[in-house]
Amino acid sequence: MFDTVLIANRGEIALRIVRTCRDMGITTVVVHSGVDRDSAAVRAADHRVNIGPADPHRSYLYPPAIIEAALQTGAQAIHPGYGFLSEDPDFATICAENGLVFIGPDPDVMARLGDKSTARRIMAEAGLPVVPGSDRPVSTADEAAEVAQRIGFPLIVKAVAGGGGRGMSVVRDIGALLPTFRATRAAAQVAFGDNRVYLEQYLYGARHIEIQILADAHGNVVHLGERDCSVQRRHQKLIEESPAPRLPADLADRLAAHAVAGARAVGYRGAGTFEFLVRGEDAAFIEVNSRIQVEHPVTEMVTGVDIVREQLLVAAGEPLGPSSHGWARRGAAVECRINAEDPNRAFVPCPGRLTEFTAPAGPFVRVDTHAFPGSQARPEYDSLLAKVVTWGQDRDQALARMRRALRELRVEGPGMHTTAPLLAEVLDEPDFVAGTHDTTLLDRRAEPGRAEP
Ligand code: ADP
Repeated sequence: MFDTVLIANRGEIALRIVRTCRDMGITTVVVHSGVDRDSAAVRAADHRVNIGPADPHRSYLYPPAIIEAALQTGAQAIHPGYGFLSEDPDFATICAENGLVFIGPDPDVMARLGDKSTARRIMAEAGLPVVPGSDRPVSTADEAAEVAQRIGFPLIVKAVAGGGGRGMSVVRDIGALLPTFRATRAAAQVAFGDNRVYLEQYLYGARHIEIQILADAHGNVVHLGERDCSVQRRHQKLIEESPAPRLPADLADRLAAHAVAGARAVGYRGAGTFEFLVRGEDAAFIEVNSRIQVEHPVTEMVTGVDIVREQLLVAAGEPLGPSSHGWARRGAAVECRINAEDPNRAFVPCPGRLTEFTAPAGPFVRVDTHAFPGSQARPEYDSLLAKVVTWGQDRDQALARMRRALRELRVEGPGMHTTAPLLAEVLDEPDFVAGTHDTTLLDRRAEPGRAEP
């Protein structure tokens, strides 16, 4: 096992990784930008290195500074967390060139999966059902019209390099196809430096179900069951849970088998997530995330597996731990993402200083957060303040504890709003309580009269 691991991230995930490293006796180095010098992760780490200014392109997204910090501190491995450089194959290659272990899959596997159109093709070849769509990026108007003719409307134009719910536009009819196709390409170029897009059938009213997998270099590929992440705003997750409510057991097993087969097909190594859209008994693959997910704690709570620990074991060349093979699901867990955003103003971020922050606690509550009174929600970075996770012997109990936990949470500051009040309301929505909701829940709430596309 490594003696020293460098964490190339910030916020709650940097702190979460520090904690598992400490549990395993591994020394931690947290790199940080100037404005993060007093962050919770920096305070918790054994060593800290200031790698640049607040602008992420000059710090958390700047490989030379991170590599130099690793070499100077004697780190042997780099954990990229999620976001930032976590799915960047070039960064993984640079790590290897400098004799550092990148904690994640091989760069070529990351590159193939990070191209969402290529990932669709690979998974279709591996026998997974994929959402009907184009089998390669679509570059001309004629091609787009041809694919639309085949798959019908509504459809969705998606950036090949997209992520984080960005770079996607729904098209309702042929009249909107060309303008949306062109606009999405232009937006993708600006956001991702890659204007390639592909087309998929838009599955209105689908659930988002994903499978957590773990794979080591010894041929072991296991799954840790599913998560339901259907409560979303603008294609971004807000509430996640495991198990997925009302998902037929045979369908859950089928998705898990697909994910394991897909991981084997690409020679996956590390922790990864296979995402599917599910309508009724129909399921179709959409993408793989080749990193730890924000919502991994719900899986940890119901399986007892520390996913970061497994990532470290695999990266060090060791086999997956026995708990990954022998897990049995216990109870139910749910996670609410507390973002510094105003749900009443289109979820605009609310950066600023927190004058008050009290995290919930008590029986079966886990809070992963970097916030504390006096800390800052920075405009340069993601607005996630805290993940509140609760466990129960069944879903109802987990939800009851979540209602209690959200009542205990206090976040205050000048101009500060969070997603907490909205999520508290969702927890009482009949559809959500019954587990019959899908990814349209929040949009339909916001615009009750809105017709289906
Ligand atoms: P990202 O990588 O940006 O997270 P995904 O491809 O994972 O993008 O999709 C994110 C969300 O967008 C999905 O959970 C779903 O709500 C919606 N979405 C994506 N593709 C489709 C589709 N073909 N039909 C319906 N909804 C979709």
